[in-house]
Amino acid sequence: MPNGFYKFNPKTLSFEKVKLGFRHIAKRMVWVFLSGIAFGLLFIWIAFYVIDSPKEKLLEKENNELKAEVEELNTRIDLMSKVLLDIEDRDDNVYRTILEADPVPASERYPLLSVRSDGDSLSRSEASAMLKEANKKADKLMVRLAAQTKSLDELEQIADKKSEMLNCIPAIRPLKNMYSVTSGFGRRYHPVLKTLRSHTGVDIAAPKGTPIYATADGVVTSENPGSGYGICVVIKHGYTYKTLYAHMSKKTVKAGQKVKRGQLIGYVGTSGMATGSHLHYEVIKGDQRVNPVYYFYSDITPEEYNAILESSKKVNQSLS
Ligand SMILES: [Zn+2]
Repeated sequence: MPNGFYKFNPKTLSFEKVKLGFRHIAKRMVWVFLSGIAFGLLFIWIAFYVIDSPKEKLLEKENNELKAEVEELNTRIDLMSKVLLDIEDRDDNVYRTILEADPVPASERYPLLSVRSDGDSLSRSEASAMLKEANKKADKLMVRLAAQTKSLDELEQIADKKSEMLNCIPAIRPLKNMYSVTSGFGRRYHPVLKTLRSHTGVDIAAPKGTPIYATADGVVTSENPGSGYGICVVIKHGYTYKTLYAHMSKKTVKAGQKVKRGQLIGYVGTSGMATGSHLHYEVIKGDQRVNPVYYFYSDITPEEYNAILESSKKVNQSLS
């Protein structure tokens, strides 16, 4: 129908040929052209956005798997972070408290980390954002782990020193089954001179031959404090501590010998200036004689300690 089309005329009851003008034809052509473009665009849109190609389907599957893996990674990092938090808490509130060390400063555990920018070049997909987050968390975890390792190394050193120091303090009683002192530290009546004189240790009456034990780790010195002390052992413990055991019947250690806390060093006797069988025991810190009773804190119940303390307060006559 290149030259027009036929139209029914109800008056003549016949089809009559209608002649089309150029404008009309042009209008129809434009209409056909535009519809063609519209259908073309619709087709492209469906092809690209609605129907996935096999390659796209594969990529989407991979992307979903990646997302699941990153999510799993994030969960594991969170779990590790919680475990580490518990260790940090114990470190600050238990170990450091016991060992009298300062807590680890927060700036050391949680420094301000610079945010990595290399992820920006990646596509801004959900998976890459999650991966970036996981990386950030892992960085923080590494710093906290490094700080914690350093802290534990430090505590190990402190603990070593503390236990070495604690072993050097005369913390036990020199005689077993010792529940009181016969004569305490301070001004006491001298048994021979019968006047109040400074008593530089404590006297513990005990049968001749009762074993005497070193009250801390140390080395036996060659010191001879004087003939009045009779057979006497002086032990140097370090950290300026020394202990002295006098009036022994016999000693079992020699000068220069290393001794351990609780080691037998001799037996009770009456040698030197003594009015009865007893141990005269002294604790020396620096240049000062100190009250040995205050050092009987290890291996003793509070009741036993109170009994010894009370007995030491009596201003009676010393056994010398
Ligand atoms: Zn004495």
